[in-house]
Amino acid sequence: MSHRSIPTYRSRLSITGRLMRCCGAWLLVSLGACGEAPPPGASETQPELPLKIVATTGMIADTAQRLAGDLAVVEGLMGPGVDPHLFKASEGDVRKLAEADLILYNGLHLEGKMGDILVKLARQRPVVAVSDAIPESLRREPPEMAGNYDPHIWFDVSLWIYTLEPITAALVELAPEHRDELEARRESLRQELEGLDAWVTEQIASIPRQHRVMVTAHDAFGYFGQRYDIEVIGLQGISTLTEAGLQDVDRVVSLVTERRIPAIFVESSVPRRSIEAVQAACAQRGHEVAIGGELFSDAMGEQGTPEGDYQGMVRHNVTTLVEALR
Ligand SMILES: [Zn+2]
Repeated sequence: MSHRSIPTYRSRLSITGRLMRCCGAWLLVSLGACGEAPPPGASETQPELPLKIVATTGMIADTAQRLAGDLAVVEGLMGPGVDPHLFKASEGDVRKLAEADLILYNGLHLEGKMGDILVKLARQRPVVAVSDAIPESLRREPPEMAGNYDPHIWFDVSLWIYTLEPITAALVELAPEHRDELEARRESLRQELEGLDAWVTEQIASIPRQHRVMVTAHDAFGYFGQRYDIEVIGLQGISTLTEAGLQDVDRVVSLVTERRIPAIFVESSVPRRSIEAVQAACAQRGHEVAIGGELFSDAMGEQGTPEGDYQGMVRHNVTTLVEALR
């Protein structure tokens, strides 16, 4: 598999010219020489407000809604507890995607089963991979991913800040008369997230070093561990496609027992049985390890709960870790 993401409408747009709507189809129309005025009636190409935006994960949907304000209605396809690695779009999802003015997805193969449909949709409307904005030098390329980048970028808040740029740019493209307002919201959200990043750093540093280890069901927290200086041990690989084998369980049990790690964690979007198997095996070796609570990894919590938005989800995870390990 390659690292290249789907060529987006936006990147094509910026190269080729201006997009015009004709007979229900989107056509790219070259403007020719620079400085030429847009063709008459070009404003008709702008979709009506509020924009219809569909995002794959809840984290992207929440971020896009914060940036768009009342200029858009953003819907996330993957609800609480949904595993994006395994998610397949239903007929209803495909309908929503086909009606959207803008589609936002994570990329880096997180939405492993949606590649074909996103390619098709990108021919007719802007389809933006928010991870495209993250410099390659900051992307993790763990050996177990065999040449692919780790897609779990949202748990390094400093990386997630990069996604504000392409989302805002796509919104400005669709609602250019609201540029100032959109850019002001981007700056204010950037400041909030910088504050969150500093808070996470401080909280994790309060865990004694020998206990600063998080054992979880799958390797969703690689970026988190790297940014906030906590060792991360996942029972499964980066994707949840392969369930934890017996060897993995054995390796983790030895480590937890030897280091007397007080707690291990379950994840909202991954079955808890592998983590329970580790707990039982540790008990057999005379080490009682607690299940330190549920971490939100690839999906946020229920809407209306504190974990139902991106920042709340990050805070929940950090508080859960700190209380169980400190
Ligand atoms: Zn994952």
